[in-house]
Amino acid sequence: MFHYDRGLKLTSIDLAVDFRRRQPRGFISHAHTDHMAKHELAFCTPATAALYHYRFGERPVRKMEFGVAQKWNEIELTALPAGHVLGSAMLLASDGNERLLYTGDFKLGPSATSEQASPPKADVLVMESTFGDPKYRLPPREEVIAELLRIVTEALDRGSTPLIQAYVLGKAQEVTKILTSAGIRVLQHPLVHRISQIYEKHNCSLGNYAEYRDDEGPGQCAVVVPPMTQKAQRLRGINNPTTIAVTGWAMDPGAKFRLRVDHAVPLSDHADYDDLLACVELVQPHIIYCTHGPESFVGRLQKLGHNAHLLSAGRQLRLKFA
Ligand SMILES: [Zn+2]
Ligand SMILES: [Zn+2]
Repeated sequence: MFHYDRGLKLTSIDLAVDFRRRQPRGFISHAHTDHMAKHELAFCTPATAALYHYRFGERPVRKMEFGVAQKWNEIELTALPAGHVLGSAMLLASDGNERLLYTGDFKLGPSATSEQASPPKADVLVMESTFGDPKYRLPPREEVIAELLRIVTEALDRGSTPLIQAYVLGKAQEVTKILTSAGIRVLQHPLVHRISQIYEKHNCSLGNYAEYRDDEGPGQCAVVVPPMTQKAQRLRGINNPTTIAVTGWAMDPGAKFRLRVDHAVPLSDHADYDDLLACVELVQPHIIYCTHGPESFVGRLQKLGHNAHLLSAGRQLRLKFA
């Protein structure tokens, strides 16, 4: 039903899944650039389609509403919420006999801005396992949010501008919604603000925020900007910032020094280590293929009695159902 050729392909319908090179037909799980290419026909959710068009211009799309199965030849395809960013989807493919679940980037549990994931049972699980190491057990979400709010409020009280570095798609909107929900006004870098408008159009309102304007300065607001590694023009008028990175990698010792920020807060839009194991429990697959994660995670799954394998770039495999 599927094979692997530097990416997952559903063989019989020639559907490439999250390929970064152009394909005749490509499923796009979500609109982060490492999951997209300018396909001849893209399969994705309506929100992902809007973000895909924003990044690559208008292109042919076959839209998939969450939870609505559609047939493509003999294969039934269903997009299910992945809890990662707006519109992010898992792909459930069934040939009437067996079911494959591809998670894409995902997170379990609640999010302020994306639809919550609820992975179904499947025979084969292809799973993103970025945080597949026990050191990435994130603290409870409420604690992480409380820490972020404390840092931001203390900065504002000192007359310092909280300058929060977050990926322009996903994390930036999540942080904005968390802050505005706590009564903190937010200004967004223009690159963030443009994507926030797409969130608003898809019924995800982010509260009391506006685009940052050089001529007005930050005032008593938190400012959300892209990570300094993403080449964005610097904002003018922020003289006394408290810099904050929000990322699961904040669990790494010394993260704030490596990221060159005053604070690193472990707010993640990826499943942490415990979530990955919980996902396997929910799906109850006969066979698991891991992508993006450490090889040690595959070993861990095997020790737990699972038939688990690593899908690594550059390898070609013909994969079989169990
Ligand atoms: Zn992603
Ligand atoms: Zn990714």
